[in-house]
Amino acid sequence: MAALCAFAAASSAASFFAGVDESVQYVYHETQHDKLTGLPGRQAMMARIREAAHRTRSTGAPVFLIDIDINRFKTINDAIGYSNGDELIRVFAERLAEVVPAGTETGRIGAGEFALIYRDETGAERVDLFVERLLEQMTRPYQLATHLQSISLSIGIVSLPKDGYEPVRLLRLSNLALQHARTSGVGGWAVFHPEMGEVADYRQWIESELNGAFERGEFSLHYQPQHDLSTGRIVGYEALMRWNHPARGMIPPAEFIPIAEETGMIAPIGAWALRQACLDARRLPQECFVAVNISAVQFMTRDFIAEVAATVEETGIDPSRLELEITETAMMQDRERAAAILKDLTAMGLTVAVDDFGTGYSNLSYLIDFSFHKLKIDQSFIQRLETDASTGAVVSTIVGLSRALGVNTIAEGVETEHQATLLRAAGCHIVQGYYYGHPAPLPVEDKPRLRAVG
Ligand code: C2E
Ligand code: CA
Ligand code: CA
Repeated sequence: MAALCAFAAASSAASFFAGVDESVQYVYHETQHDKLTGLPGRQAMMARIREAAHRTRSTGAPVFLIDIDINRFKTINDAIGYSNGDELIRVFAERLAEVVPAGTETGRIGAGEFALIYRDETGAERVDLFVERLLEQMTRPYQLATHLQSISLSIGIVSLPKDGYEPVRLLRLSNLALQHARTSGVGGWAVFHPEMGEVADYRQWIESELNGAFERGEFSLHYQPQHDLSTGRIVGYEALMRWNHPARGMIPPAEFIPIAEETGMIAPIGAWALRQACLDARRLPQECFVAVNISAVQFMTRDFIAEVAATVEETGIDPSRLELEITETAMMQDRERAAAILKDLTAMGLTVAVDDFGTGYSNLSYLIDFSFHKLKIDQSFIQRLETDASTGAVVSTIVGLSRALGVNTIAEGVETEHQATLLRAAGCHIVQGYYYGHPAPLPVEDKPRLRAVG
């Protein structure tokens, strides 16, 4: 009631002054409401969190603060243009309003970031079930004026009173949970846990070290052979990035690449990896290609094609010896753009493998529109091959699908002879994994060329 009176007083004051200074109303609305969506902005949301905290303190009924972030919104915005970006935010907010139960307070607290205050009252959906449903419904593609836009989300949850009462702190903790959900990749959402604080410190450390690391030349590429199953010969090598930190030793790419993607450092690092791999190709057997991992962020940048073309030109690599590994998820961000980029890459004469295939999307219709040359079956399937009979059927189905599409299949993470046998039986073409060879540095210059490793 007090808030309502304050609001009424403020708006009548604003209208009283309207004739004198029209900007007052505007400024008032601006700080309280987000212009694009009409939702409360960050400041207004903090006030509502404070009220919710106040209530839960007196009633003891739990309340959840749910932080929702559109992954890589800035990159999407750059790629599709700001007016499309605005439209995406608007339709996102509209759908959000339809999906959340009545009584849930919603606000826009960042460019691609929204917050919900969710009450777990009697008869309401349990918060985990609600968030699962939210993820499912909110990641369905969005029809914009120019194209169909796919997005992915990260969600972090804190609960009041358990995690505290103070709005700034609660928002920081829900964001920590969100970052955790984003880097661990799988579920898309996470509930805050105190350990996440330590993870955040480590993350911050990586972020601060990354810049210098690049300048100090601490990155290198290791190469892992890919074998043709029918001939047993090595047909290519995958370049895998290594960061050798002077104090901490080897930091695995799974720990620093996602952070580099968020901070934008992936641009120089990725460009370096591509160039270095093209140069290293000279020291690999002539009949072998070199496969380079391309981050989703790199793939979607405006000048990606130009960058690849310039690197091919400058390093003199025969384009048929260059393969780009691009994840299924990267291709799905904006299908039309992805299809155009893939067409350009193929026209340049290089090959494309769909990396981590089988982990991202169940809708396979997109494959028909994409020009690529290989499906790379994710290692999680290979690991389950020996223990889970239905995985064998999945792998055979992927091989069948690749035949129908006229492309090859490659299996990654092959560790045992038995897995290799099963893959051969399934009709898989190429294999890669510890059973055949670990990733290893190229031998120092002037030594004989790299032979099969491991
Ligand atoms: P990925 O592209 O799926 O690469 C395969 C990962 O599996 C590599 O991990 C590789 O060392 C590991 N691996 C290979 N054989 C086996 C095996 O038999 N068993 C098991 N358990 N693992 C095996 P790594 O090198 O730690 O790289 C992790 C991820 O980091 C890569 O996954 C890729 O997504 C990313 N990454 C690595 N280098 C680059 C790069 O230059 N650019 C970009 N954008 N991402 C990179
Ligand atoms: Ca890969
Ligand atoms: Ca993989």
